[in-house]
Amino acid sequence: MSTSPDEDAITPEEEAQLLDSIGKWLARDVKPYARQLDHDDTWPADMVAQMRDLGLFGATIRREYGGLGLGASTYSKIVMAVSEVWMSLSGIFNSHLIMASAVQRFGTEEQKRRFLPRFADGTLRGGLALTEPDCGTDLQAIRTKAVRDGDDYVVNGTKTWISNGIHGHCVALLLKTDTTVEPRHKGLSMFIAEKGEGFTVSRKLEKLGYKGIDSAELVFRDYRVPAANLIGGVEGKGFAHTAGGLELGRINVASRGVGVATAALKASTSYSQLRRTMGKPIHQHQAIAIKLADMATRVEAARLLVEQAATAYDSGRRCDMEAGMAKLFATEAALENATEAMRIHGAYGYSKELDVERYYRDAPLLCIGEGTNEIQRIIIARQLIERNSV
Ligand SMILES: Cc1cc2nc3c(=O)[nH]c(=O)nc-3n(C[C@H](O)[C@H](O)[C@H](O)COP(=O)(O)OP(=O)(O)OC[C@H]3O[C@@H](n4cnc5c(N)ncnc54)[C@H](O)[C@@H]3O)c2cc1C
Repeated sequence: MSTSPDEDAITPEEEAQLLDSIGKWLARDVKPYARQLDHDDTWPADMVAQMRDLGLFGATIRREYGGLGLGASTYSKIVMAVSEVWMSLSGIFNSHLIMASAVQRFGTEEQKRRFLPRFADGTLRGGLALTEPDCGTDLQAIRTKAVRDGDDYVVNGTKTWISNGIHGHCVALLLKTDTTVEPRHKGLSMFIAEKGEGFTVSRKLEKLGYKGIDSAELVFRDYRVPAANLIGGVEGKGFAHTAGGLELGRINVASRGVGVATAALKASTSYSQLRRTMGKPIHQHQAIAIKLADMATRVEAARLLVEQAATAYDSGRRCDMEAGMAKLFATEAALENATEAMRIHGAYGYSKELDVERYYRDAPLLCIGEGTNEIQRIIIARQLIERNSV
């Protein structure tokens, strides 16, 4: 196995066992309940407890800090499996692990010892708080400010669309510590901010899909975060810390895309053999057969792109282009497969009695989160030119 700095060794047998346990858990404890929880937009407390027992909150945290120490390759397979059953569940540990990854990769040793064991066992859970009401893509334009005051920084501002914002205990918080410096990214710093006085959840955000997981607006009013929680202990590195998590974040979202695209394909493969029109199962109509072929091809291509990006990540190679391609292709595949699944299912695709309508509501988020697909195309093109300059 590879030796990336984020990975401890795991044998193929251990990986198979882990994926088998997760598969059994998904079949027994998640699949029978996911549809209702999604429709009710209920945070899945029991499943979160089970995910803690399975070690998912520590999946990519090194073993010396209490995690499973998995590399991106194994981790992406877990995310695919979970997302095939209920994508929202993956968000509960994915965003948490991006926060953990910032501490693991860029934190001081003291910060790693203080936070990572509690992140790994899920006693301290959270997410990533970057986006603000008037900026998402252009993170250098954030306005939430942190001003040093003794041993603390005093924080004022608003973050929005924060996954795990309500049920989480803390966030990796991107703040402006210098409003005048040029280039603007040198004025950004990232902190681990635990909930406390001055840190409030102002509202739960209602969404088209991605139900069950909480998305929230967070308001900071004279909130004091200890200077000891400034990741890496040095101001001005927040943009680099954010960018450093993007490759894993994109592999992660791409894996969710493979999961949703696969679920849509499986539902369609099965339904098209059961549903009959004009005296034969609908898969025997060429119009439907072509859809199935395209859906299956998209799933396989997306899976291979994710595998390629994860392997590159685990080997420690720069993989922004590979992760960008995987994210772009796999998330568009999820959206296309979800749409085609709905067409194949006819009226039943539109019904809340099946899961197809959920795939159709969940998939578009994947094209927006972790860098929109418009931005992925820009990154891919830029890298293409850089790697092939004449
Ligand atoms: C359900 C959900 C969960 C989320 N979870 C989190 C979270 O946990 N933490 C967090 O910080 N954020 C989260 N987000 C926010 C998400 O990361 C942002 O929505 C995303 O980064 C896009 O930002 P925006 O919505 O402000 O769009 P904008 O940046 O305003 O972009 C609007 C449009 O313009 C395009 N565009 C922007 N700039 C360019 C450019 N330079 N070139 C070409 N096109 C461009 C975009 O692609 C998009 O089509 C979440 C969002 C959703 C919907």
